[in-house]
Amino acid sequence: MTLATGVSTIGDVKAFKPHLQSLSSYPYQAVEAPIKLDQNESPYDLPLEVKERAIERLQHLDWNRYPSLHADEVRTKLSQRLAWPQTGVVVSPGSNLLIQALVQAANRVVDTAPAFPHYAFSAKMSAVSYQAVALEADFSLPTEALLGAMEAGPALVFLPNPHAPTGQLFPQVEIHKLAHKALETGGLLVLDEAYHQFSSSDYTALARQNPHVALLRTFSKAWGLGGIRAGYLLASQEVCTVVQNFIPPFGLPAHTSAILLSVLETPEYTQRIVQTLLAEREQMYAALQEHPTWKVYPSHTNFFLIRTPDAAAAYAGLLEQGILVRRQDHYLGLEGCLRVSIGRPEENQRFLQAAFALSEVSHA
Ligand SMILES: *Cc1c(COP(=O)(O)O)cnc(C)c1O
Repeated sequence: MTLATGVSTIGDVKAFKPHLQSLSSYPYQAVEAPIKLDQNESPYDLPLEVKERAIERLQHLDWNRYPSLHADEVRTKLSQRLAWPQTGVVVSPGSNLLIQALVQAANRVVDTAPAFPHYAFSAKMSAVSYQAVALEADFSLPTEALLGAMEAGPALVFLPNPHAPTGQLFPQVEIHKLAHKALETGGLLVLDEAYHQFSSSDYTALARQNPHVALLRTFSKAWGLGGIRAGYLLASQEVCTVVQNFIPPFGLPAHTSAILLSVLETPEYTQRIVQTLLAEREQMYAALQEHPTWKVYPSHTNFFLIRTPDAAAAYAGLLEQGILVRRQDHYLGLEGCLRVSIGRPEENQRFLQAAFALSEVSHA
């Protein structure tokens, strides 16, 4: 039963594991607003011709037939595109499911705090040993502490790079130290590259050399396919075999494959979108620097982390103006923080106007 508070209880059902007795639900609440800047989605839907090709493909599918066991056609296309062995690719409905599969397979999970919440959430659900290492106060990587945690025993280490929710890109030398430690200790460093297109960062070369490094990618952000649910893992064949076993057979729906094959035929559209968002990012960053009470952090993603004097008040003030952002002030070290996605130019303008209007109100 799910209570209104979002806490689920299993009452007298004894068939479930006891640790599930009082598990919180995933921390997200849907709110309607005209300007939606709360989920780091692409503000642009697919170009019409790409969408039409996908629909055409769907039209010709046999909907009565099961899809390929392991999304073979999509894996072939990704493998060609990335020059990565097909046996080292797992595709699933959302990279969240890959995170869950990795965690279920793991002995021990290590991540950073704050970090993308699904790592910790999955570890809790699966009752896997879990350790969060706090980022430094300036959000830089606590490399020594992470290396220490990795030495305590072979670990699955999740690191979003660029990092979510802080938006920063970690230095290559630090990532290489962690990768080396994973190799040395028999662990696995999972770099979550959900936002890599916004930073031009790409660790396929490292993962190619070091089988103790795996990469997570998603179609939900730069590809503009948040509604379609698709992501993939690039890793060694051995890691992929294990992870694939935790994804249900025939796990990628035929319609998802059809859509992915269509976008993979014409991936160029994503570059235009990324370029537009990067130009917006630069302008917004410059504008927000002038804000009298907010501090904006540099971003290597399609969102900004912003520290305000009062996250609840800023969130409510923006929502009153029709702008939905995401509160982050419940995270360790993120007191007063909001996260705002970079939207279309006119949406960003409205956001900036509202942000500066709020500061006038609070100064009055
Ligand atoms: C958005 C995001 C994802 C994407 O998850 P999907 O299930 O593929 O939509 C993964 N990791 C991070 C850090 C993200 O911000």
